[in-house]
This record gives sequence, structure tokens and C-alpha cells, in this order.
Amino acid sequence: MAAPLPLPALHATHAGIWLADDSGDAREAQRGEAIARAAETPHILLNAPLVGQRLGYPDLSGLDLLELFAFLHPARFAVPTIAGLSRALGLEPPAGESGSAGHLRRLAERLLADLADSDWAEREGAWTANATLHRLGWGWAPLVAARIERPEAGERMLFARLPVWEEAAERPPPRTISVDPAEAEARLAELTGAGSEPREGQRAMAAAAAGLFAPRRAEGAPNLLLAEAGTGIGKTLAYLAPASLWAAAAGGTVWISTFTKALQRQLDAEGARLFADKGERTRRIAIRKGRENYLCLLNLEDAMQGAFAGRAAILAHLVGRWAAYSKDGDMVGGDLPGWLPSLFRRAGAAALTDRRGECVYAGCPHYRRCFIERSERAGREADLVIANHALVMINAARSRETGTPFIVFDEGHHLHDAADSTFAVAFGGQEAIEMRRWIVGPEGRARGRRRGLAARLMDVASYDEEGLQALDAAVEAAKALPSDGWLQRLVEGDPFGPVEALLAEVRGTVYARAKAQDAGYGLETELAEPDGALVAAAARALETLESLQKPLAALARRLEAVLEDAPDWLDSQARARVEGAIHGLGWRRETLGAWIALLGRIGGSADVDFVDWLAIERAEGREYDVAIHRRWLDPTRPLAATVLAPAQGVLFTSATLRGGGSDWPIAEQRTGTIHLPGPARRFEADSPFDYAACAEVLIVTDIKPGDVAALAGAYARLIEAAGGGSLGLFTAIQRLKAVHARIADRLARAGLPLIAQHVDPMDAGTLVDIFRDDPHTSLLGTDALRDGVDVPGESLRLVVMERVPWPRPTVLHAARRMAFGGSAYDDRVVRARLAQAFGRLIRRQGDRGQFVILSAAMPSRLLTAFPAATPVRRVGLDEAIARVAAATPPVPATILPPVGVGA
Ligand code: SF4
Repeated sequence: MAAPLPLPALHATHAGIWLADDSGDAREAQRGEAIARAAETPHILLNAPLVGQRLGYPDLSGLDLLELFAFLHPARFAVPTIAGLSRALGLEPPAGESGSAGHLRRLAERLLADLADSDWAEREGAWTANATLHRLGWGWAPLVAARIERPEAGERMLFARLPVWEEAAERPPPRTISVDPAEAEARLAELTGAGSEPREGQRAMAAAAAGLFAPRRAEGAPNLLLAEAGTGIGKTLAYLAPASLWAAAAGGTVWISTFTKALQRQLDAEGARLFADKGERTRRIAIRKGRENYLCLLNLEDAMQGAFAGRAAILAHLVGRWAAYSKDGDMVGGDLPGWLPSLFRRAGAAALTDRRGECVYAGCPHYRRCFIERSERAGREADLVIANHALVMINAARSRETGTPFIVFDEGHHLHDAADSTFAVAFGGQEAIEMRRWIVGPEGRARGRRRGLAARLMDVASYDEEGLQALDAAVEAAKALPSDGWLQRLVEGDPFGPVEALLAEVRGTVYARAKAQDAGYGLETELAEPDGALVAAAARALETLESLQKPLAALARRLEAVLEDAPDWLDSQARARVEGAIHGLGWRRETLGAWIALLGRIGGSADVDFVDWLAIERAEGREYDVAIHRRWLDPTRPLAATVLAPAQGVLFTSATLRGGGSDWPIAEQRTGTIHLPGPARRFEADSPFDYAACAEVLIVTDIKPGDVAALAGAYARLIEAAGGGSLGLFTAIQRLKAVHARIADRLARAGLPLIAQHVDPMDAGTLVDIFRDDPHTSLLGTDALRDGVDVPGESLRLVVMERVPWPRPTVLHAARRMAFGGSAYDDRVVRARLAQAFGRLIRRQGDRGQFVILSAAMPSRLLTAFPAATPVRRVGLDEAIARVAAATPPVPATILPPVGVGA
């Protein structure tokens, strides 16, 4: 190891603040002193935004170890805590908070020493990247430069190091074959491995799932199977067994669709059982996500060449390091550390993906190395494509990837909500300005490579007179859409153009009619009985949209004609650019059509299939959008028509397909099978877990509703009794924040770190990683965590819900409640949420846990949400605490007291 670094270090948690001087001596410090010292001299620290938050000094900067780790070991996983980073580097974590500041220096020494290690796997490109980072003022760069050896030959450019995908002939359609249930069972036995006990429910499910692959009997009538498989059945292997048999024999692809990233990762890991050879596995199993998840190399190049400045530019170069080593270029939930963008206060990360659909396809110099193109091609060739519900639906709706004959919707209980967002329409300032930018291009002082439609189609326009006219007309019409500063103009009562005028009317109507639901957050009102001014403004805005729609349609026709009657200059690059433009235009015209339909309804008769409302979006009291929203009353109708009906077979599975109840019609309604001919087959298998012995539900009866101090006290005492390992679920962000602010210090001083969504500057995935990594840590969160946490074992032994999760009384909810059963509809929503939350607790054999609801108002009729054998007790807080303490296992000897979670 190299000589000690002559640098001080700073460590701050809810338990205190520690400084280590440049010789390594550490001591506790006061906040003011720590801030002053950090402002004077760069300190080594870990996760600057989090430490800054602990100090109440959000602009804190310093030598962040996480940035250095991301530079040295891009695409390598590490939990962003002192203990997590230590383990990633093979070091023993420190024994307590007081030793942590000194330990930060050892971590830095270790990382810098790795620069000289001849086995450093990610060396290529590092010297060149550091030279640029030096120029950009990255704090670590001089320290790295002093230790890294200059390569003898020049390093290859990042883009030259990425693999090129190969074009392949189109795959022939799959053969029509059936899968024998007995063969599916045999395949399952192979997958679970010799010697392992076959699970009856799993075996039966594999046999039932085999029926999916029989040839369908009529067009629009796919084979349908609803399979409710209790937690622990092993349902993924149960459907992978017949799916892999069919794919191999038929030469086709089965799409496995999930909702959470946790399941996507689990399925990816199961791939090792299907194909032991890594190369074969990569060929036969593809992971697909929406294109907005992937790094766009053209955007990255642009950012690295000057479109990004300051800290955002440093992030771009660290992302560039990662891109060269990434498995698939997935920036969201892939191998880019989820914490990396947070270190840069999220500046710039989203702009590195292709969120706005500006891809120029083969017109792009990186097309042959593009991660998105590579993933699409891998999907075409694969046996199994692991995707998410949204992507499967969007692909089907845009008819981009036809030939998806068999689909397995795992986490099928989320299908309704996924369809709800996929088929939603929103016409507001943010959406309209995006449309304007896509057509008009950058205006004012905008920087970067973004170009308008005219610039992207210059060569076509110069060749085709009609095309040029359509293009000019489209650009002219788009200038009537909102532009920068639109919201300010609305607030000042000075809107520009018919669309801004409409949004001003919408905003006025919302303020006049809406009831605030949650101070500082969104406001909304039903789109009903609009007054004359709103109707007139909608009519003028509608004309504007129609005057844009016409030239876009004409342009699309001209582009298609150019492709058909190709001129001499239309080489393959230009052709691909035109194809890309046609695709992009199709997507924009679809959006425009939906907006026009929405505006056309204002002042006319309501369409019973839709729920429309007006909204002002706000965060912490600050407005950021004004919009008109439209949702399907029953979003499974478009789901059934566009996704399910064209398929050959669809399997829906979940532990709670019937929403925590026992009614199959609920499952049929929530999956959309009710809209298809022929009955869906049903399968159910109970969980093998002994819930009577391993779980318990405690309903606490003596917390006064609305008493935040009592609520916070109850959380603190329960978490203490459990020794951490608790997941706290809230229905309102404000209450979560209030509880966290009251108890975080107290718990931290007891060695029980508390982290929280909406409080700690980290994404939900990173918070879950930290929670999973340390059984003493507890996590507070809202809806997203209720579904996305998959933490088997010791780290999660207590779930605490603050109250019964009734649906928020939104316009949309009121309409669905009225249409689908009144209070019974509410009950179904709550039951499903309780079942999901309870499902976090017992993930595998041997798990134990308690589920506490801090509300006496929990109706007994909803208790069917929990597995039948689970004991349910209504108790006072003291007894609940005693029961939790009695059930808490001794802290595993191998686990040290927690350090450096930043709690
Ligand atoms: S092909 Fe499109 S998405 Fe891919 S790198 Fe180029 S511009 Fe970006």
C-alpha cells in the first residue's frame, strides 16, 4: 500500500460528525467547524450530497470516494456506504462511527493504490479520461495523475472499444408445436437440479403453463392462463420450463414481462440454470427495456465534447468510463451505479439517454455500436426476452415488434396500473414544449446537438419541393406551441398564443374549483361543466393543433414516397435517416391525434370510456406544469385489444393476482381477459410457508389519528425493539418526512441507521441496496417501496404501515369507484395493497417477520388480504413492542455495528 495520504476526512451521520486530520487522528466535531474546514480544504468523504444534507449544508463538495470508485471500477457494484465500499474493496469495515473518518482515508489510499496494480481490469482508457477530468477540475484528478502510468501507445477512443452488432437475416416465423405437460415437468426437474425436493405447486404450475403453447383456436382468442402462485412456489422456473422448451423447439421468442427491476434481475440470474454456458446464455436470453433507459452514445459524445459544463461534464466523463465496461448500457437499474447521478445532484444524467426520441438511427456515427440497437437485435434472436410491462405494451401499440406470440406477465397484479399509464394522454405545457422543440429545434441560447426537424431532413427537403413546403408549414405551426417561460407568462396573466391561452384557462379553472388534497402538492378538478372562456380557448388551441397535424401528415407521405422512388443521393445512411424520421413522425402524430381528441371533447358530450380532468402539478408548493389529463375508465380495454388479442398465448401470474381476495372475476377484470372471447383457465397454488409459525399481524389500537408525535414515537420504539431491519410504509410524503425528522437522530445514536425515500438524496434502488446490506438499517418509504423491495432474510423482519392505505380521493379514483362497485372497489384496492406490503416480509423458507398497522381503524373485512393462517392481533402499542422484541432474533455475530450509512 502507498504512503498515507496527507488529506483530512469528514464523516457525518445522524449520530454525529467526525473529522480526521491529515495525519489520521480523528475526533468528533461541531457542525459549524466541520462546514468551515470542508470549505477551506477539500476533505475525503463518502457521498457528498448525503453528508451535506446531514450538515445542513447542501452545497458541500470534497473528494468523494464514490466518484473515485466509479472512475476506477466502472460497472462494478458497491453499496454506497463505508461498510459497503470496504467490502467491495476487500477491506474490513470499521467497528463503529468514531473510527469511520480515519477509515475513509484508508479507503482512499486503497483505491489510489489500485491505480498501480498490474491486475487492474479497467485500466484501458483511464489515463486519457483522467487527463480530461484534470482539465475539468475534478478533485481526484491530480492525485490519480500522480499515480497512474501513462500508456506507451495512445489509448483507443471509447467509441472504438465498444463492440459492433451484426445484422442478421430476419428470423423465420416460429413453428407450430405444443409442449407436453410431462415434458415441462421433466424440464423443471432438470432446472431445479438433482437432489432438490420437487415442490408440488411448482410442478403443477409447470404442467398448467405448458398448455399455453398449444395452437390457438381462433383469431383474437389467445390461450389464457391466470395463475395465482403463493410466495415461495418458485413460479419463475415453473413457467420458464415450458417456455424454454417451446422456444428451443419452435425457434421462436417468449416474452417474459415484469413490473419491478428486482424481478428482472432475478430472472436474469435464473438464466444460469437454463444455459450454463455464458456465451449461449447471452445469445438465448435478452433483457429489453424502454429506449429511455439506455445511454445514447451520440448524446454522450456531445456532452463530452462541450455540451455539458462544470460538474455535469465530469459526470459525462465518468459515464464514458462506465460505457466502455457496461454489459448493456442500461443507465437505469443496469450496471451503472444508481448512486452515481445522485452525486451530481442528477445534473445531466437524463440528457444522456434518448428520452426525446431524437435518435437519427443509421444517420448516427455510433449506430453500429449503439446500445439500444444492440438490445433490439439481441431481442429478435433470443429464446426468452425479459422486458417490462410498459415496453411490451408500447411495442404492441406501436406495432413495432410484431411476432410476440407468447407472453408471460409476471407480477400480473401490476398490469392494470401499467396499462393505465401506458394508454394515458396528457396535454400540458411540458408535453407541448417538447413537441415544439422536436420540430423547431433549439431556440435562444440552447446548446448541444439537438436539431429540429428541418435540420434533420435538410437533404430530403432540398430535393422534394412538396416535402419542403410541408416541413416549413410544420415548423411555422409548431411556433404557436408554448415556448420557454410559458409558465411564468401564465402566472403573470400574459400567455402567448392559443395553447398558452388554453393552459391559462385550465389553471384558472383548477384554482377556482379544486380542493387542496395535500398542501403544496398537485391540484385537480374534473373536466365537467367547463365555462365559456375555457371552451372557446380549447377551440382555438384545437385549430392550432390541427394546423400542425396536416403538414406533419403531408411530410410523412412525402418521406414514404422518397423511400419508394429513391433518388440517386439516397444512400443507406440517408435512407436510414428518412426511416428514422418516419418513425419519429408517426409517434408525434399519434400524440397529436390524442390531444386533438381530448380538446375536441371540451364543451361537447362526455365520452363514457374516459375520465378527463384538469390539473396543476406542484412539488413542495412550486408549480411545474399545467395539463389536461385523460385516462381510460378501464385501461384493460386497450390492453386487451392491442396486446392480448393479437397474441397466441398469455400467462398472467402473481402471488396476489386476485388482489388479496379470492374472487377470480377480479383477476379477469384486472388483467383484461374479461374483454376476450373464451374463458381464461385458472390455476392456483398456495404458498408452502407456514405463516402461522413465521408471521404475525399486529393492529395497534391506541395511536390517536393525526398525532404525528405519537406516530413517530411508535415508529422509533418498534424499530428499537426489532433492532432495525424494519420497513416503514407511508401513504403521505409529508408524514414520512415529519416522522423521519423526529426519530432519525435518536435511532442513529442507538446504532440503528434510518434512511428514507424523499429525504435522502438517493434513488429508491440505492436505498433498498443499503437496506438489504445491513440488518440494523431501517427504511422509510411510500408506494414504490411497497412493491419494489425484495429483501429476503434478516434485513427485513418488520413492516410498519402508518395507516390503512385507502386510495387517494382523486378525480380518476372517484370515477372508477362509481363504475366498479363503490366501497367494494375501495376495499379491493386496499386489500391488494396490504397483500403486496405483507408479501415483502416472508420471501424464502426460514424468513420470519411481523406486520404492524398503526391504526385502530383497520376494518376486519380487509384482513382476508393476509394469508389465511397468519395470526392477527389487535393490541396496544406496549404489547406490540413487547411482541416485536420477543420475536427479534439475536444480532448475527458476523455483523458488525453499522457504520457510515449516513443515517
Ligand atoms: S443510434 Fe440513436 S440512440 Fe443510438 S447512439 Fe445514435 S442517436 Fe443515440
